[in-house]
Amino acid sequence: MDDALLSQLRTRLESLAAAGVAFLPRLQPLAAPPSAPSPAPMATPLAAGESRPIELQLLSRQVAACTRCPELSSTRTQTVFGIGPLDPELCFVGEAPGADEDRQGVPFVGAAGQLLDRIIAAMGLKREEVYICNILRCRPPGNRQPKPDEAAHCREYLERTLELVKPKYLCALGLTAAQKLLSSTASLGKLRGTFHDYKGIPVICTYHPAALLPSRSPEKKADVWQDMKMLLTKMGKPIPAPRPVSRDP
Ligand code: URA
Repeated sequence: MDDALLSQLRTRLESLAAAGVAFLPRLQPLAAPPSAPSPAPMATPLAAGESRPIELQLLSRQVAACTRCPELSSTRTQTVFGIGPLDPELCFVGEAPGADEDRQGVPFVGAAGQLLDRIIAAMGLKREEVYICNILRCRPPGNRQPKPDEAAHCREYLERTLELVKPKYLCALGLTAAQKLLSSTASLGKLRGTFHDYKGIPVICTYHPAALLPSRSPEKKADVWQDMKMLLTKMGKPIPAPRPVSRDP
């Protein structure tokens, strides 16, 4: 979808919302693959005039048609949009889809995703109640690191997603996510252990779940748990015990 059409649609939605239209019929995917997930299941009833679910769906269609990065758009199976409810307490931001995510069109569904699920469960939360997205919406070939221009191309999508989803807290997973989200060049060692700010939203940075896999640095699970306890305290939530995340997968 081109930017002019998107802007027209946005204007139309805003005028419908201003006129008190609270719901529109569910849209069916256009050219998206059959397995593409609905981007934002609603956790709570939305106020009259709420157009964010539709705006998010329009954004996911714009992303699905994106060709800003020639290499990524020609090698991806599909784009991987964020998933989760609007107005979540917490949003996790990862780096980029991997092979499993590229195949399924859903973020964090592979081995790292299973570890993220365990981190979420250890926090006393459910995966369905948090939002999960990435710095990039396409898989870099061979899971290489996102290039600076790729992250820059995808930045608008990340910013608009967060603007529409409105999470209360953000957790950046790994160095790339932390640096890109915060527009910082600091090391993860420097970024961990303190809260940062993204447009008024408190941000905590921790290790990427992939770094905790048995073949990498499973001993870092204790550090991640420290970070999650700090986050839960800031969120005003109880810290569950014991710590299942520290067990081997
Ligand atoms: N790693 C990420 O950073 N994101 C995913 O969605 C999956 C693996």
